Amino acid sequence: MAAAPLAAGAIQLKRIEQLTEGLSPSERMPVLFIGHGHPMNALFDNTFTQSLSTLANHLPRPEAIMVVSAHWQTKGTFVSVAPKQHTIHDFGPFDQRLFEIRYDTPGHPERAREVIGMAGAVHVREDHEWGLDHGAWSVLRHIWPKADIPVFQLSIDYTKGAAFHFDLAEKLRKLRNRGVLIIGSGNIVHNLGNLDWSDINAKPFDWALEFDSIVKTHILNKDYLPLVNYQTFGTLAQLAVPTNDHYLPMIYSLGLADKNEATTMLFEGMQYGSVSMRCFRVG
Ligand code: ZN
Repeated sequence: MAAAPLAAGAIQLKRIEQLTEGLSPSERMPVLFIGHGHPMNALFDNTFTQSLSTLANHLPRPEAIMVVSAHWQTKGTFVSVAPKQHTIHDFGPFDQRLFEIRYDTPGHPERAREVIGMAGAVHVREDHEWGLDHGAWSVLRHIWPKADIPVFQLSIDYTKGAAFHFDLAEKLRKLRNRGVLIIGSGNIVHNLGNLDWSDINAKPFDWALEFDSIVKTHILNKDYLPLVNYQTFGTLAQLAVPTNDHYLPMIYSLGLADKNEATTMLFEGMQYGSVSMRCFRVG
């Protein structure tokens, strides 16, 4: 006789799981941070890209995706409101095959314009020209290869410090309840001057591993303030974050997180000795 309530309970649990993983746009969407690394990862089949390829199996299908990419740096903040988003090939002549990749998607002007209202006193302006840079499509093509989900981007105001970006991200949390899955796309450690171009699997520098590990610990402890004030890590930060363009997308991913949400590491590893490919998920 005990079997019946147990089975009913199991069914109930299954329903809850389905709801949690469900498709409703009213569900709160997770936030991702993806370490995108070299543009050639768009073509590579390696442990990093394989981890991206299976990611969508564990994600609710969003109504739209907003990407905060290291590769859209502007004076002032812009959000792309165009109804169609075209592929931008924003890199040097690495490999002709990269230039043949198209990841054209619909935009989502309605959700994109909601960003402007949520940002409040931060003046976010409409952009009609930008498409999807490789910080967006080089990872999206592995996660959702069909390119059938609307995407828009939020630019990074290069005149502002990390605290500004963290505060702006906090204001945009409600976007997650509007069916928008947000991805910060950059790299926690990104020192091109020290890159060992000869070998993607080059032995990582000690300082790169140390900084990456410190950041990981703070993320998992939800101790974000030291990461916003990353310069206080001194020489380590100067080596790991010589310019903050690839670091700031992570600050957005953290600002979008609520304190009580689970944080899961999705991937960790170094490429070329000084580029952290760490990825994580919040919620
Ligand atoms: Zn990049």
